Amino acid sequence: MNVIKLPSEMQNWSRSQKMQGKNIGLVPTMGMLHEGHLSLVRLAKEKCDLVVVSIFVNPIQFGEGEDFESYPRDFSRDSNLLEKEGVDVVFAPEGRDMYTEDFGSSVETSGLDTKLCGKSRPGHFRGVTTVVSKLFNICLPDLAVFGQKDAQQVMIIEKMVKDLNFPLQILRGPIVREPNGLAMSSRNTYLNEREREDATILSRSLTMAKNLIDAGERNPSAIKGAMIEAISQVPGTRIDYIEVLNGVDLSDLKEIKGKVLIALAVKFGGARLIDNVLVEV
Ligand code: AMP
Repeated sequence: MNVIKLPSEMQNWSRSQKMQGKNIGLVPTMGMLHEGHLSLVRLAKEKCDLVVVSIFVNPIQFGEGEDFESYPRDFSRDSNLLEKEGVDVVFAPEGRDMYTEDFGSSVETSGLDTKLCGKSRPGHFRGVTTVVSKLFNICLPDLAVFGQKDAQQVMIIEKMVKDLNFPLQILRGPIVREPNGLAMSSRNTYLNEREREDATILSRSLTMAKNLIDAGERNPSAIKGAMIEAISQVPGTRIDYIEVLNGVDLSDLKEIKGKVLIALAVKFGGARLIDNVLVEV
């Protein structure tokens, strides 16, 4: 497995592989890898000749007072895991090589970024679409795999790829969960044992919401209300948002029908966790 740090070297590697007729799958990550990330790597491996995994904690997608500095990092653990998965290249650039002193461009996709995490993390998705555009231009993938765990992120990236004609395909991987239902996340390392147990209320409340819909509930406010009630019963939780939205364009819903995204962000101690379920009615 190659470890490449320089964007120019990465681009040269990808270019030469493509000249030999190989197609490339990219899995962008911020490291501190878990089974969720590895499931995306396996999807990429199934579909492509070569797999590149990027590990980069992207400073411009973190707001002031967010956890950029404290975000967990463990490169040697990550690279061991990726080596076992048979990954071809780990692209792990330095911040200074991604954002040179005179850096001054950004990519912004409007429309989907005003809801959910876009509301509570202003500028976050501009940081994401900018770095993902750079990763696409550097790694030259034919396919890039993103997790449904970050539902709004993958929707925004799909729109960016379509709007800006990036010559690649986006594949969504399903959410991978702990046996107790907690969605895997690098930020789960912030939770103590008690909080880890408490945080299972997130997936439980999403399952409850899905069950309510299966039982015939069609009022988005009733579902939201039931979820708020369930989550508020767990001491120490701070709800950032709970939303029941159109799962295609994130528009507000008067009635549950079609593709429906139920998404939430809740703080436990020092961690802000997100989770969601996509329901087809
Ligand atoms: P991150 O390192 O958190 O930026 O995530 C990198 C990629 O892994 C993103 O496409 C995430 O949506 C995806 N991902 C993170 N957690 C999970 C999970 N539990 N299941 C599936 N994909 C995930």
